[in-house]
Amino acid sequence: RFITFEGIDGAGKSTHIEAVSARLRAAGADVLNTREPGGTALAEQLRELVLHQGMDALTEALLVFAGRRDHIEQVIRPALAAGRTVVSDRFTDASFAYQGGGRGLDGHVLAALEGWVGHGLQPDLTIWFDLPAEMAAARRAAAREADRFEQQDLHFFARVRAGYAARAEAAPERFARIDASLPVDAVAAQIVAVLEARGW
Ligand code: C5P
Repeated sequence: RFITFEGIDGAGKSTHIEAVSARLRAAGADVLNTREPGGTALAEQLRELVLHQGMDALTEALLVFAGRRDHIEQVIRPALAAGRTVVSDRFTDASFAYQGGGRGLDGHVLAALEGWVGHGLQPDLTIWFDLPAEMAAARRAAAREADRFEQQDLHFFARVRAGYAARAEAAPERFARIDASLPVDAVAAQIVAVLEARGW
């Protein structure tokens, strides 16, 4: 099983990724936690470049997908082949949301990269933390860490959110939308319901 977590910065994924992983482990799954951008030594180096160095949207997408290629080949596919449950903090949907929605890169370019790099690999389940850009900004301000994306304006994150919404609409069976504007407990309850509906 391949499970991904997505959402704009400040959506509050981290706490829930830990809780979901613990729940799956308690149910007997051999869980591998990983993240993007990153997930391998090479991809983590590319992450540093992408997060801290200015570049145009296509260059950014090429670097993110180069890292993703390495991540898929070195980590994700071998783990899935060994019967493990892979839980990734972000995956390809983030490229459609950030490089596509946020930075305006053509969806056809992203779809081509997705095809070359992933050969049809898709998560079995994507847990999408959805909330208004204003609310996410308030949460980021409360927990101050700043890479160059987190300094972007509300319009940027509104476009990223719309990018996620479009992906969710195109793959409704894979996407579980979580109302991330609610308090932590209510968010956790929604996620548990999603997992239980799948017998996980
Ligand atoms: O989720 P995490 O905080 O680790 O993501 C790191 C940063 O990379 C975030 O600010 C996110 O907005 C950005 N990002 C991106 N393009 C992606 C994935 C993440 O710009 N494809």
